[in-house]
Amino acid sequence: MSDHLGSYDVVVTPLPPPLAWADPLPPAAPPPGMALFQLPTGTYETRAVFAVRGGSFRDKRQFAATSVLVRHPDGDLLIDAGFGAGVAAHVAALPRMERAPFRLAATVDQQLDAAGYDRSRLLGVLVTHAHWDHVSGLDGLDVPVLINDDELRYATGHKGGTIFRTVVEGHEVRRYALDGPAYLGFARSHDVHGDGSVVVALAGGHTDGSVVVFVTLPSGARWAFIGDLTWQLDGVRRRVERPALMRRLADVDAAGVRRSLLAVVALVGLVRVVPSHDLAAYEGIPLLPAREDLRDATAAAGTTP
Ligand SMILES: [Zn+2]
Repeated sequence: MSDHLGSYDVVVTPLPPPLAWADPLPPAAPPPGMALFQLPTGTYETRAVFAVRGGSFRDKRQFAATSVLVRHPDGDLLIDAGFGAGVAAHVAALPRMERAPFRLAATVDQQLDAAGYDRSRLLGVLVTHAHWDHVSGLDGLDVPVLINDDELRYATGHKGGTIFRTVVEGHEVRRYALDGPAYLGFARSHDVHGDGSVVVALAGGHTDGSVVVFVTLPSGARWAFIGDLTWQLDGVRRRVERPALMRRLADVDAAGVRRSLLAVVALVGLVRVVPSHDLAAYEGIPLLPAREDLRDATAAAGTTP
């Protein structure tokens, strides 16, 4: 995997390295049949100079807008919603400097249909945070939105929630409480299924209620979907933050983002870290199989379609 060495114009001092996580990993009992799928809905273009400290103006990055389906016998979840059919209008409604060239592939709605997916399995969309590029696809999904109180307050009151307020109309909003114990360096958590397989941790700073979604699979593989703690894997590998201007514009609490980013860096090697917008970070997560394959794939995973 390229880490864009060539894109660094200047030498950047990384954040101080955190101590690697040395405690036992939290217990998890993921049931047979749990599985992860990625649903890439498109990309938008951002220059590295705006994405990571020291990035080059010449280096154009394709930012992923990818949803993740977490199958579980007690009900499936989507992590974020990707781009929806109305993404062009959503981009047009952004402040001028936030608009970017984008490419829409297939929406989550279309991909679920193409797979012959049974929507009754879906508990809802769990949002890492309420920004447009994570919620646009709610426009075509008639399922509940799972969100914590801090993020709902941000989403309903902050200018960063403008698109959320449009697309959330007609959806049931299910609030969950982050009243569980500390989890892998984060102070508060919520265990979705009660078996440790899907644990949401509060990582506020990009927005008030931004979260990291930790997923543990029956294979023992652990994943951390970290939303926008950093936009690219560079942030994790090089321990570099967003450029100062973008921290000021994009984050409500840059110090909070820094703390959470370092907590994630401490887990590298134990947990696969996925910044929402890094295409390469999703390598190893299969696409949703086409309709005729779904029965076989889910049978192989030990669950019923
Ligand atoms: Zn984002």
